[in-house]
Amino acid sequence: MIDLLVLAPHPDDAELGMGGTLARASDMGYSTAVIDLSLGEMASKGSPAIRKKEAAKAAKILGLDYRKNLAWPDSKLIDSLDYRLELAQIIRELKPEVVIAPYKADRHPDHVSVANITPAALHLAGLANAPLEAKNHKVKNLFYYMGNAQFTANLIVDTSDYIDIWEASVAAYKSQFSGKAASETVTPDVFRRRKARAAYWGSFINTQYGEPLISAKPLNFFPI
Ligand SMILES: [Zn+2]
Repeated sequence: MIDLLVLAPHPDDAELGMGGTLARASDMGYSTAVIDLSLGEMASKGSPAIRKKEAAKAAKILGLDYRKNLAWPDSKLIDSLDYRLELAQIIRELKPEVVIAPYKADRHPDHVSVANITPAALHLAGLANAPLEAKNHKVKNLFYYMGNAQFTANLIVDTSDYIDIWEASVAAYKSQFSGKAASETVTPDVFRRRKARAAYWGSFINTQYGEPLISAKPLNFFPI
């Protein structure tokens, strides 16, 4: 039973978008998991083997209880019944309370596909008669995290105390985020830009840093 499951189209997406939240949740005693959907084999830098090691290192830094890579094809991901069922089966096995998927507006088509596959998979996971093993499981809340495009958040997680862990988890992907700034395929500047983004979102909740989320449905909180 997992409290918080983050889905990542590529190894490093979970860290970039939800690293602070994952670190904070783990610190608070919640069980956390990341499912990477592809090995990132189409990336211009690194290799699946290197990124596997980097992902394992990042998992330790974030205190994840569970991490798995489904090795779906990088940059060829499309919403299909097979992928929905495969993900639904994992949802039944992990029984997450909350699932966090990439937001649908994104320049990377894999992120768009995962944003579409996820709610369909959650639906199937909850259906008693779906052609799946294990007992059906209904997830309490589905949220989306920010990738390469903006949305208006309706939940911002205060990650001020976890910004260093966030940075260390992203830095674990040395193959992706180190090197000369002049290189077209390496992004060492990611820390400055992403920290600025976190400071922007934190400003709306009066904290130093924050990670934005948008829920798939209205939030049910009362008393408030
Ligand atoms: Zn990605």
